[in-house]
Amino acid sequence: MDYLTSMKQYDVAIIGAGCSGLSLAYRLIGSPLKVCVLDNSKRDNRYRKTWSYWNTYEHPFQHLQANSNSSLVVKNSSQTILDCSNYNYSTIDSYDFDNFIFDELEKSKNIDVVFETNIEDIQLSDDGYSLIISDNETCKTGYVFDSRPSNSFSTMKQIFKGLFVEFHHPLKDFQAHLMDFSDKNQFHFFYSLPLGKGKYLFESTYYTSLEMDKESMASEVHDYIVEKYGEDYSVIREEYGEIPLTTNTKLNNNKSNYIKIGIPAGSTRASTGYTFLNIQKQADEYMKMLNGKSFIEHPKTFKNKILRKMDNLLLMIIKDHPTESKNILFEMFNRNQAQRVIRFLSDTPSLMDIILIIWNMPKLLFIKYAIRSFTTPKI
Ligand SMILES: Cc1cc2nc3c(=O)[nH]c(=O)nc-3n(C[C@H](O)[C@H](O)[C@H](O)COP(=O)(O)OP(=O)(O)OC[C@H]3O[C@@H](n4cnc5c(N)ncnc54)[C@H](O)[C@@H]3O)c2cc1C
Repeated sequence: MDYLTSMKQYDVAIIGAGCSGLSLAYRLIGSPLKVCVLDNSKRDNRYRKTWSYWNTYEHPFQHLQANSNSSLVVKNSSQTILDCSNYNYSTIDSYDFDNFIFDELEKSKNIDVVFETNIEDIQLSDDGYSLIISDNETCKTGYVFDSRPSNSFSTMKQIFKGLFVEFHHPLKDFQAHLMDFSDKNQFHFFYSLPLGKGKYLFESTYYTSLEMDKESMASEVHDYIVEKYGEDYSVIREEYGEIPLTTNTKLNNNKSNYIKIGIPAGSTRASTGYTFLNIQKQADEYMKMLNGKSFIEHPKTFKNKILRKMDNLLLMIIKDHPTESKNILFEMFNRNQAQRVIRFLSDTPSLMDIILIIWNMPKLLFIKYAIRSFTTPKI
């Protein structure tokens, strides 16, 4: 039998069963398209993450939200409260996300999920089909959505080490902190969230171009917890993450059947690291594309151009002036209406939000970096 006619054939192949791959696969359940999801990890040994975001965009996984906060503290030498009552700050555990979606995919008739298959090559051909070659099989597909991490280098990263802890007595004076800036000579802060039933997440976070030591970051978190809340806790699990912060992403070609998704497709908000909601927005746009409708993955509007420019300037300033940047960020929270800042951080500001936020930034420094950005490569 001819090798090519005997191989499995799909309309859509999704490479990577992570956040972006599964978000798209879930939306394709019950569609007339035959879909496969291919991942190199084991089903029962998945990398666990906790995704938080402000509820500024509706998506199909809202019922998985484990926790929601209506206010967050931002603290530098003084503190301010970010009122999130209009856009609750919510958290989804990727363990719940995976279990929910894998159960639904198992029941579906049009989607195959294959674990422990490492995609090694994708060959695009002129007949509109692509060959996906893994270490244990080859399949043919119409569309390829690829979420494998890209090898491109990014100077700035958000690096964080988190401890999930359980206190043996409830913390009466606990306040969730979005950013509790330390007095280090770096852009560094602690982050803390309640997760219900005496459980909390504490994180040490850096925006940096340097390598960081995980062990010393874990010690920082312990010291922080002990200083604020005492020693009466146990660690349930740990989390470590490095999110590339860059505005230098190569965008997809709208006419191609090979489409990058997730972080390699620029879903991370460059100046904040928030990614989850942008992945949901992108998945909705890809569905429009698969349904033959017009779609806009990265709207090239004036507003978006300004936002990307601001992200680049903020990253340049954080890189060169980490200590001053903490004051700039704090003042952004302090001087602007909470809803405005949340829309800005969530990539959904109005033009007026952007104008007022820029108005409240230190103008001379931004003008200096705006001029410099014409002669330096994007971060
Ligand atoms: C610890 C952590 C916490 C985070 N917290 C937040 C948060 O609070 N809020 C937020 O908005 N964002 C957060 N992010 C950022 C972002 O939301 C996540 O990283 C998100 O998982 C990115 O989705 P993705 O699909 O691009 O990548 P992933 O979820 O990493 O998926 C990629 C998939 O591709 C598979 N794969 C890789 N190579 C191959 C290959 N060769 N063949 C087959 N499969 C392959 C991997 O196994 C993986 O399953 C966090 C990131 C981390 C690391």
